[in-house]
Amino acid sequence: MNCERSADVLIIGGGPAGASAAAVLAERGHRVTVLEKSHHPRFHIGESLLPANLPLFERLGIEAEVRAVGLPKWGVEFHSPSHGHAQSFRFADSLRKDQPHAYEVRRSELDTLLIRRAAALGASVLEGCRAREVEFLSDGVRVQAECESGERLAFRAPYLIDASGRDTFLGSRLGTKRRNRHHNSSAMYAHFAGAWRHEDPRRTGDIGIFWFEHGWFWYIPLADGATSVGAVVWPYYMKARTRPLPDYFLETLALCPPLAERLRGARLASAVEATGNYAYGCGRSHGERYLLTGDAYTFIDPVFSSGVLFAMKTGCAAAETLDECLRAPARRARAFRRFDRLSRHGPRAFSWYIYRMTRPAMRQLFMEPRNPLRMREALLSLLAGDIYGETPIWGPLRAFRTLYYVMSVLTARRTLEAMRLRRAALDAASIEPGTVR
Ligand SMILES: Cc1cc2nc3c(=O)[nH]c(=O)nc-3n(C[C@H](O)[C@H](O)[C@H](O)COP(=O)(O)OP(=O)(O)OC[C@H]3O[C@@H](n4cnc5c(N)ncnc54)[C@H](O)[C@@H]3O)c2cc1C
Repeated sequence: MNCERSADVLIIGGGPAGASAAAVLAERGHRVTVLEKSHHPRFHIGESLLPANLPLFERLGIEAEVRAVGLPKWGVEFHSPSHGHAQSFRFADSLRKDQPHAYEVRRSELDTLLIRRAAALGASVLEGCRAREVEFLSDGVRVQAECESGERLAFRAPYLIDASGRDTFLGSRLGTKRRNRHHNSSAMYAHFAGAWRHEDPRRTGDIGIFWFEHGWFWYIPLADGATSVGAVVWPYYMKARTRPLPDYFLETLALCPPLAERLRGARLASAVEATGNYAYGCGRSHGERYLLTGDAYTFIDPVFSSGVLFAMKTGCAAAETLDECLRAPARRARAFRRFDRLSRHGPRAFSWYIYRMTRPAMRQLFMEPRNPLRMREALLSLLAGDIYGETPIWGPLRAFRTLYYVMSVLTARRTLEAMRLRRAALDAASIEPGTVR
């Protein structure tokens, strides 16, 4: 074992959360080390971004590079089997008119841009280096890591940021990670070549969301002509699989005729992959010497494409928090509380909608959106990820929720049936006793 290396902040994980945190900290002159177990570029699922990502790209100085690899995404299209039409939402129609688009990206490209930017700003990035153990000291943390060569390294720093994604490095070790008892799903996904494209350039990059009996599908066109397609299904549906994953995936796609139509003539261009029960949260966003960011803190469901936004936002916020703590240690408690509020805000803003997505009233409001009290515009602002700033979305969204409850009463029989089915689907996932609210 070599002697201990020191840093001001140690970051475990070089995805969007870790790289954003590293870039901001390095820019502010701190010594920051990122441990990343794999090597960029590496595959990652999660290719659809939100307009609210763009100011973060600008802030990190990579807006032009992201534009060069991304396909502009001007909106979202929802397809429901019980409605005879698709419903298209344009980001330009949201309350804020100056962020009309986002991007669809290959994550291997986006994540490489982010981590290289952090390195260019002065962060020390060690790829192929996996954090193994952590020890909390009175004045910081000590982390033991292992390189691919087998070499073991030790690091010491006053602060640690966990940005290890779904590996949940700290949440798993500290026992604070819990399954989400309100939601649970699994996903199968792959890339296709030769899939259908919208001819209108203002719609080519739209993400398509297709609901079906066992969950929903995403359809994400990418800039290089490939299309990412995934099925997000209730766990019982995955458990029922008896055939090889690629066969099961293709059979599942065939259950949704409008999606199957888009894939007629297309061919699989990647392996089919799957991710199991993936809604969870950690009980705490921070401890005395650490902060959790991105998926290392919580993950609910990708239906609103919010994961990369949360990761980058909490990554930047963690960096600002620790910048403040390193400069003025007495302010730590207040800075950590502010970080905690921001960490909870994102998942909370979206979870109410995610938990009710299967209810008839919610489907109706999405498929036949109306704009009294600017409800439709506010819903679009939410879909754009515009939840952290000054845009006045909360009043109209309260009106939307009230309307939802009124419509649920009017469709009480169908609502109760949808709730019963959802409950049964969650029970089938054998929820653990410790759960997240
Ligand atoms: C099926 C599915 C579809 C999704 N679709 C979307 C979407 O369309 N849009 C969207 O915005 N989000 C989507 N997401 C969510 C999105 O992928 C994540 O929220 C996002 O990647 C989180 O970023 P992160 O930096 O927190 O974690 P990650 O991107 O997972 O990065 C974590 C990094 O930590 C590294 N690491 C882990 N453990 C260690 C260790 N011990 N030592 C060193 N390094 C380690 C990993 O190698 C990885 O590079 C989707 C998620 C799923 C499951």
